[in-house]
Amino acid sequence: MDIKAQYEDLLPEIKQLVGDVIDSGRFILGPNVRALEVEVAASVGYGHAVAVANGTDALELGLQALGIGPGDEVVTTAYTFFATAEAIARRGATPVFADIDPVSLCLDPDAAEAAITERTRAVMPVHIFGQTADLRAFRELADRHGIALIEDAAQAFGATFEGYRAGSYGDVATFSFFPTKNFPAMGDAGMAIASSEEIAEKVRLLRFHGSRDKRVFEQIGVNSRLDEMQAVILRRFLPEVDGWNEGRMAAAARYRELGLGEHVSLPEVAPGRSHIYHLYVVRTPAREQLQRRLKEAGVASAVYYGQPHHLQPVFRHLGYREGSLPVTEAASREGLALPMFPTLVEEQQREVVNAVRGAASAAA
Ligand SMILES: *Cc1c(COP(=O)(O)O)cnc(C)c1O
Repeated sequence: MDIKAQYEDLLPEIKQLVGDVIDSGRFILGPNVRALEVEVAASVGYGHAVAVANGTDALELGLQALGIGPGDEVVTTAYTFFATAEAIARRGATPVFADIDPVSLCLDPDAAEAAITERTRAVMPVHIFGQTADLRAFRELADRHGIALIEDAAQAFGATFEGYRAGSYGDVATFSFFPTKNFPAMGDAGMAIASSEEIAEKVRLLRFHGSRDKRVFEQIGVNSRLDEMQAVILRRFLPEVDGWNEGRMAAAARYRELGLGEHVSLPEVAPGRSHIYHLYVVRTPAREQLQRRLKEAGVASAVYYGQPHHLQPVFRHLGYREGSLPVTEAASREGLALPMFPTLVEEQQREVVNAVRGAASAAA
């Protein structure tokens, strides 16, 4: 990734805006944070947005606002960034890992449903790599079982499911604006989208020590405030995100046209969904050789989620084994992220494809 290239042209403006915040002397939860919340909710087209310090806190506070805690189970995927499962465990609840769908690599609704017990309080799919989970199936499943739906949309700002944007199906949905995400801040930042003002109000309370006014404390919360500098940057970037996502989609189409699919399996997009390619993850059983060859050719690549959560030492007590989640484990073994960012150009992509071709012919 080349995270600066996409907003190089905006930097003078950004520096001006940050300078204005410094001049204003208002640094935390000020007018830019409030405006950002309104603008993000409008962009998602749904819900009530509450800005927090990062995407992990958005998940944890979202779970807490929904009343999820010790003794509760939350069904989720093991093929995701660690924060997803961590947020559940930090609430004292138990993550229950179900397998993923082989096309989207998101939590499989049937597998998730099979994992529901009388202790299940929520299902938490992750829109992995920039493609949403089957949100209609998950909404129906959650309603059928009387449990909450939480969308971990950290990687999918602007991705759509049947025309609706990620974040518009959950009781709570969460975004991360970590600098490498598709909608980046220049530091840590996150957002919870609540389906009701009541849930939003709870998250608002929790992000500020469980207090509305710094005098009366109604709950044990945390300090998870967003600052004005990140908010002003995010407000300036928000109108650009769809264009950046289109740049990524165009780059993905070019990888296909350049013949990358002759050598490795390309990411697939399920019907009715858009993929905004937060990460461009191809698959090959010969991943190690491919990665070694790419490195020799000077092409960056990275393994995302080489060890799924159900096999992590911290969750050993949950009793999963190798083979418990075969689709998840195959994706963890075979997936390799190739260069992907909005300003990626054909020439660079040709180099990538040639390097992959070279690795494939060396293996043959
Ligand atoms: C990035 C990410 C998070 C956490 O966001 P932070 O802002 O880094 O705390 C959570 N879930 C997923 C799937 C992510 O990719």
